[in-house]
Amino acid sequence: MSDPSGQATGIPDPQSLGNGIHLVPAPLPFRSPAWVNAYAIESEGGLLLLDCGTDWEPGRRALSHGLRSLGLDETAIHTLVVTHLHPDHVGMSARLVDELGCRFVMHERASQLVDRYNDSPGFARRLKTIGHTHGVPDAIIDAAIPESRPDYMPLIEGPDHTLRDGDEIPLSGSRRLEILHTPGHEPAHICLRDSRTGILFSGDHILPRISPVIMYDLDLGDVLGDYLDSLQKLIAVRIGLTYPAHGTVIEHGDERARQILLHHDRRLLDMAELVREQDTTAWEVMLESFRPNLDPIQARLAFLETVSHLEHLRLSGRIQVDEQDDQLIYRA
Ligand SMILES: [Zn+2]
Repeated sequence: MSDPSGQATGIPDPQSLGNGIHLVPAPLPFRSPAWVNAYAIESEGGLLLLDCGTDWEPGRRALSHGLRSLGLDETAIHTLVVTHLHPDHVGMSARLVDELGCRFVMHERASQLVDRYNDSPGFARRLKTIGHTHGVPDAIIDAAIPESRPDYMPLIEGPDHTLRDGDEIPLSGSRRLEILHTPGHEPAHICLRDSRTGILFSGDHILPRISPVIMYDLDLGDVLGDYLDSLQKLIAVRIGLTYPAHGTVIEHGDERARQILLHHDRRLLDMAELVREQDTTAWEVMLESFRPNLDPIQARLAFLETVSHLEHLRLSGRIQVDEQDDQLIYRA
């Protein structure tokens, strides 16, 4: 694909994948991931769209042009389903619902998190609290907190319909999309399985090459534990061909799920070892565990990923924590 200046952007062309499934990559205003895979799935009376990207012109254009290049019309979209409430998946939802009049669908837990998604000051407050508690220097906390809400993630509306684990969305005839609740990357995350082909739409739960970031947040409990359980759940239902929300098709979803489980096992072992060597804060563990010179956003993600691992170790009784001067110190 090329942008209007004619430069190649590395984003793949829209593609029909067979079985009435069409892939429309929508560019994102980030370096990585550079695009999200929106899937248009043929269903009774039109199209179901799965995820929509951030709200910005290149993404909006890519969606309508992409569908048109595949012989489809965006006005046929009757339903927008989002896999989870991150801006690269749900960002453009309010605009699409407004422009296309489509039904907006998410997991029932997501509907409880819409206010949290819309609350930028609350996000900043939580980040500050977590940073202070886990030993992050003030200057770094300030640099990692966005000054204002980015234009590409306007406020979103609540859903017209919510889903639970095990629910089914009818497509056509006896064909359905089965809902699998897979919390971890985000508490309301869902994967959807096509009853006719067995293809799994994995959202960000299983990605090729990279493992999705598992971010600690206040009031969400053991997010890494949830994520590992959700990987096991997909292995147990014998997933195969997997269409992820970023990157290319995964032939063997179950193998990829096992690789990601191993990755987290190793990281847990390494972090437990660091805590055994000396009492330490999550910030210090992050500095030891990730490459140096991360930019503020990368540092924020790496730090929250570190806290999710340390909290999982603590909640499963493998390490302890003490409070000293309002900071949490992990110890063996
Ligand atoms: Zn994503």
